[in-house]
Amino acid sequence: MADLAALYARFRASSAVSTDSRQAQDGTLFFALNGPNFRGRDFAAPALARGARYAVVDDEALAAANPGQYTYAPDPLAALQALALHHRRQLVMPVLAITGSNGKTTTKELAHAVLSRRFRVQYTQGNLNNHIGVPLTLLSIRPGEHELAIVEMGANHQGEIALLCRLAEPTHGLITNIGKAHLEGFGGVEGIARGKGELFRYLEQVGGTAFVNTLDARLPALAAPVPERVSYPGPTDTYPAELLSAAPHVVMRLFGGTSLEARITGGYNFPNLAAAAALGAYFGVPTADIGEALAAYEPANNRSQLVRTAHNELVLDAYNANPSSMAAALHSFAARPGNPAGKVVIMGDMFELGRESAAEHRALGQLVRGLPFGQIVLIGPDMHHAAATDSSLLHFLTKSEAGSWLRENPLRNRQILIKGSRGMGLESLLELL
Ligand code: ATP
Ligand code: MG
Repeated sequence: MADLAALYARFRASSAVSTDSRQAQDGTLFFALNGPNFRGRDFAAPALARGARYAVVDDEALAAANPGQYTYAPDPLAALQALALHHRRQLVMPVLAITGSNGKTTTKELAHAVLSRRFRVQYTQGNLNNHIGVPLTLLSIRPGEHELAIVEMGANHQGEIALLCRLAEPTHGLITNIGKAHLEGFGGVEGIARGKGELFRYLEQVGGTAFVNTLDARLPALAAPVPERVSYPGPTDTYPAELLSAAPHVVMRLFGGTSLEARITGGYNFPNLAAAAALGAYFGVPTADIGEALAAYEPANNRSQLVRTAHNELVLDAYNANPSSMAAALHSFAARPGNPAGKVVIMGDMFELGRESAAEHRALGQLVRGLPFGQIVLIGPDMHHAAATDSSLLHFLTKSEAGSWLRENPLRNRQILIKGSRGMGLESLLELL
């Protein structure tokens, strides 16, 4: 282990922390992390050349030759995590952790929009939610500057959320839902509940506060041992909310009072909005401000975006997909106003399903063919299991084959849902729609 006090002094003297040499700027503390196919130390000199002030490397000789710029750590990742924990322990503020199968980033962004009405909030940038992203988020919190922190935590294996909790020491925690995401690594839905539940287990140990989505049947029981519990959005919950309409945008009533129209679409976003409202109310943001913040929030990054092209209206949800979020998106799309014959669904493979992959794709095929859509287009090798359930389902092995078909059969004046796993990159079909 590197000398933590010395490393902390270098952190305090730096402007920012980075693990990507291309993003190193003037005054950065650069951690040369090793990857599966590269040695981090090879990027230390480029980072310094770009203006980084210090580099943490696992090369003792290099560090000894230039101790003014290099810090030696046998394991730079462990050093990054230890530094983050040390820094976290200097912070006196609520630290809210958000995990769950689906909707973490959306809920985090909404919670930031709401809580920023009252506090100076630091929060996870983008999707930096793993064993590297969480330390980077923690190290971006400035004691004099921020009053509250929101940390997104992602996981695809048991024990990961527990580790992230040991680093971030959250005082408050929210699990968006327990769904079928990363089935492969967790071993079934019960395994997912246990894995995400590690956040509530941590809060139980330290006497924290759990935010409980009572729409998810598993969450109240998972949260039961946590000493302070705040529930939403059921009528008898701490912070009730009511979904009035899911399309074209979510319209909801807050706390039995006034209603608001959000700019995001889809009934599955209702629990995300309700979660952010509950967080706001709990931390004392006035209800009118909560309503305004939720109504003003604009979705980004291919998540549930409504896009109008010259020819069609798209629900662009190409950011990711798993059985639960696919089902949520399909039901929500089916419930949109409009002629069912004019609705087209374009779906790409769902990744990371392991042994369940064939069965889950087949189940998806059965689900989608039972819903009122005019045309269904499936893309990717795993989707052949879905396609096999019904001969009316159009299937292409690759995106480029699907692209050729779209060029020959251009879609006009349709409503189109686009959804698939991140690796499918379905947003690239946009130019053809
Ligand atoms: P990741 O695991 O990649 O970090 P995430 O949990 O942060 O994902 P988001 O990025 O907020 O999730 O949303 C990704 C997609 O999940 C959305 O575009 C939407 O299709 C779906 N989704 C969002 N919220 C929910 C929800 N509450 N229930 C089901 N599906 C949802
Ligand atoms: Mg996310």
